[in-house]
Amino acid sequence: MLIIGPPGSGKGTQAARISERLGVVAISTGDIFRDNVKRETPLGVEAKTFMDAGDFVPDSVTNRMVRDRLAADDVQEGFLLDGYPRTASQVAELDDILRENELALDVVLQLTADDEELVRRLLGRAELDGRSDDNEQVIRHRLGLYHDQTAPVVSRYDERGIVTRVDGIGTIDEVTDRVMTALKVAR
Ligand code: ADP
Repeated sequence: MLIIGPPGSGKGTQAARISERLGVVAISTGDIFRDNVKRETPLGVEAKTFMDAGDFVPDSVTNRMVRDRLAADDVQEGFLLDGYPRTASQVAELDDILRENELALDVVLQLTADDEELVRRLLGRAELDGRSDDNEQVIRHRLGLYHDQTAPVVSRYDERGIVTRVDGIGTIDEVTDRVMTALKVAR
């Protein structure tokens, strides 16, 4: 399954919980990039400038990383992908990767929340863990990219009839309950 939502919608938090409950591995492209930035790997060095500006890391880098990750043994029993695809061309790439690995998507979970709540949450997170892309200007840029490029991605999956929407406003537990209820219906 995929989990898609704007920055600050709680994708990562919910992905960790869903993965535990369903017993499938959670893969977050943002986490993989941040880990590489921290370890100063070539991938991290390449990604950092884009991430700090709130821009997408180029497809040439991101696609290869996802392709490698989805070929690993631990995803063959199921996986939850968080943060990919974010653009129409990544949708096409993911279709290819899944076909090559004889995998298919069951569900695309979209978490929703309004922009002002998202900005509030991300500014709060900035004070707690100081992520270098959580300042107001970069946050608004990331939100703009989400609306322009990633919302259309959801429409593509909507046409396939596999999207389930969940309201991301509320406590973490409330949202998890909504997600689990929605997934049982969707499966
Ligand atoms: P958020 O959803 O809050 O922006 P993420 O952790 O999902 O946080 O992503 C952080 C950053 O990592 C993005 O702003 C982007 O620079 C990079 N990134 C993550 N996933 C992708 C992707 N699929 N394509 C391009 N860049 C990505």
